[in-house]
Amino acid sequence: MSVFNIWDKVTEDYKTVKADKYLGIFGYPIKHTLSPIIHDTISDEFSLGERYIPFEINCDLGDYIKSAYDSGIVGLNITVPYKEKVIPFLSDIDVDAKKIGAVNTLVRNDIGYKGYNTDMEGLYRSIVESGVNIKDREIIILGAGGAARAVAYMCKKYNSKKVYIINRSLDKAVKLACDMDDGLFIPLSADKYNNIPKGKYIFIQCTSVGLKDGDGLPLINDVEFYNQADFAVDLIYNPAKTEFIKFMEKQNISAINGLKMLLYQGIIANELWNDIKIDANLSDKIYTKLIKKLYS
Ligand code: NDP
Repeated sequence: MSVFNIWDKVTEDYKTVKADKYLGIFGYPIKHTLSPIIHDTISDEFSLGERYIPFEINCDLGDYIKSAYDSGIVGLNITVPYKEKVIPFLSDIDVDAKKIGAVNTLVRNDIGYKGYNTDMEGLYRSIVESGVNIKDREIIILGAGGAARAVAYMCKKYNSKKVYIINRSLDKAVKLACDMDDGLFIPLSADKYNNIPKGKYIFIQCTSVGLKDGDGLPLINDVEFYNQADFAVDLIYNPAKTEFIKFMEKQNISAINGLKMLLYQGIIANELWNDIKIDANLSDKIYTKLIKKLYS
């Protein structure tokens, strides 16, 4: 018998969970994931008999993917630090996910799992829901990590006019712009922000600055720079209001955090796994549960 048994990797709180069918998430660390709220609520609403299990995977990713498949697991989410590393272990990959270079959702097929990136569409849906159109707009992306890759691709897919990528390490911003293979992107180091023409921009904050108390504004310490936003997104949702979001609100600039992105990436993943359509009533119900769990 193989030493790689996925059920050895179930996180503590889920060890006694029983269901007809299983979904799950691979990550490390993974204990605090909110995704079970999303998927268990959907399962109950549609009487699917599914339960969503967090698996704490700290090595041997490919072997545990195989074990998950052999155990009949219907679908998986993949999170930090595996969104890129999982790609070699897929039987197929969606065109958008391939271009992004990161996968957060695995859908079972006859020979393995096909990889998708629902982070990108999840963010897009949350922006559209705020009444904002990124088409023909100039965008400033702060950060060039895994999440920024999905954001950059979203700007390309939905026809933004120009996209500035500012990152602490210039090499990663340059690589992201090159990987997107499009003249749309201008990479910059943080100290060169004044090269961006004065104007009105959509700001999308994709660094991890703001996760901790006292982090301050990300990358650039100049309020005039941030004042150029007419809409802002911070992918961070915990805390609910980073310094970046607080600053925007103080200036009466419309701003959202990343909780709706989290919600919609999960909803889109579940629609792929179960071939269902989740309506606004159910997504509102899940969102209320997420807010209650996180912020009250
Ligand atoms: P990565 O680790 O891949 O990237 C981190 C980014 O933050 C890099 O650009 C890094 O810059 C920058 N950074 C980190 N520390 C600092 C610092 N002290 N000063 C300036 N820049 C810094 O993480 P992800 O891209 O996966 O995630 C980024 C954020 O997005 C996280 O906070 C995460 O919680 C959030 N997120 C939210 C999601 C949602 O559903 N709402 C989904 C995915 C992510 P450098 O390259 O120079 O190291």
